Amino acid sequence: MSKTKSLTTRYLIIGNSAGGIGAVEAIREVDKEGSIIMISDEPYPSYSRPLISKYLTRERSLESMLFRPLEFYSQNNITSILGKKVRSLGLGDHTAELENGEHISWEKLLIASGGVPIVPKMEGAGKRGIFTFTTLDDAKAIDEFIENAHTAVVIGGGLIGISVTEALKKRGVKVTVVEMKDRILNTILDEQASSIAEEALKRAGIRIITGHTVAEITGKEWVRGVVLDSGEDIPCSMVVVAIGVSPRTELARGTEIKVNRGIAVDSHMATNYSDVYSCGDAAEAYDFVYCTNRLTPIWPNAYIGGRVAGYNMAGVKAEYPGGTGMNSLNYFGLDIAAAGIAVPPEGDGYELIHKQKDGIYQRIVLKDDLIVGIVFVGAIEKAGILFSLMRDRVKVSNFKKMLLSDNFGLISLPKELWQRRLKKDATIIGGLKR
Ligand SMILES: Cc1cc2nc3c(=O)[nH]c(=O)nc-3n(C[C@H](O)[C@H](O)[C@H](O)COP(=O)(O)OP(=O)(O)OC[C@H]3O[C@@H](n4cnc5c(N)ncnc54)[C@H](O)[C@@H]3O)c2cc1C
Repeated sequence: MSKTKSLTTRYLIIGNSAGGIGAVEAIREVDKEGSIIMISDEPYPSYSRPLISKYLTRERSLESMLFRPLEFYSQNNITSILGKKVRSLGLGDHTAELENGEHISWEKLLIASGGVPIVPKMEGAGKRGIFTFTTLDDAKAIDEFIENAHTAVVIGGGLIGISVTEALKKRGVKVTVVEMKDRILNTILDEQASSIAEEALKRAGIRIITGHTVAEITGKEWVRGVVLDSGEDIPCSMVVVAIGVSPRTELARGTEIKVNRGIAVDSHMATNYSDVYSCGDAAEAYDFVYCTNRLTPIWPNAYIGGRVAGYNMAGVKAEYPGGTGMNSLNYFGLDIAAAGIAVPPEGDGYELIHKQKDGIYQRIVLKDDLIVGIVFVGAIEKAGILFSLMRDRVKVSNFKKMLLSDNFGLISLPKELWQRRLKKDATIIGGLKR
């Protein structure tokens, strides 16, 4: 009988990305000795996932996308196991089983397993030329395939869909975006901002079809086109499925760890099972805009959540300050910053203020004199200060009228507020960044 290898560690970190790195950095600040194993089924050192589009455009190599230098692991005395998947967890005996049968015993566990692309059942699936776009390997696969592909259909007009669309366009591929809802970027933008973004894409030669979806992918072994639910045929040689990402909770499901849409965590990023923590895209952590725990799958939230988990795993009490959906992007030459609630439900006491002139569109959503949503297109420099007012739940009643004025800045806030803010930002930066 073959004997399977067995390792033992104080800290086991599943996932070697924003959340995992945040955690090990915090652990090492307070525990220099405790053994750490980080494991990922991706074969690469931690890289910036948002940059995979730049890899596809060949503006970035893996080396220039690394989130931490290659020496990070050895310098911090971390054993990294790359290209291996954790198959299951044994919570009672504190073990993890890898797909190759190896076992790792742990004292503290972090599940920072991120998300997986949602791929709906579609007629014609399984052909060559169908891709998702969430990993470096996805970008590599598209990069190789693109030599033979001049036309693509991207299913989904959200952030990932628009990101891959821009990269494909830069590589000379003619792209059609098919979005099921009535407008692109509909989860982060309001109608007006979506239509500005749509115009920018159209100007760049992208065809956008909204209100429809792909009913079938045609071709034999290789993709030859798609048929929409309207019956329209669109010839293409590749399809990218980019309709969203769901939390990767497979290790926790079916165990005693509580899972809703994501893994449930408290303000210490601890799950309901002792010694087990979670963060990032896999977890449902506190959203300060919605005042409840929910998925907020963006890089900074994963990293900060990871740090909080790391401190607590190492025995230092730390609280997650809360995050929310927040994005700052530049696609097709258009600057966009959006955070919180873009489209509030009607008649629920929300107040909207907006400004539109000279290609600039700015909108703020307020409730009870608190900023709960920001959508800025064109000029986004002021989005940062508004976001911090939103994050800190600052009542803006006294300077509401100033929020969108051209000369609004820290100095527009009451003096004691901006002095407090400067101090607080310095503390946050000191505490969260190394
Ligand atoms: C194309 C794209 C663009 C994006 N752009 C932005 C942006 O502009 N701004 C922004 O803030 N966010 C952006 N995001 C989101 C951001 O990348 C994520 O929020 C962030 O990566 C989440 O980090 P994480 O550590 O939770 O998980 P992930 O980065 O998803 O990493 C989890 C890791 O765990 C591994 N893993 C999971 N399960 C196992 C297992 N059982 N065994 C071994 N390994 C496992 C996974 O393979 C993966 O490597 C973008 C995402 C994509 C895909």
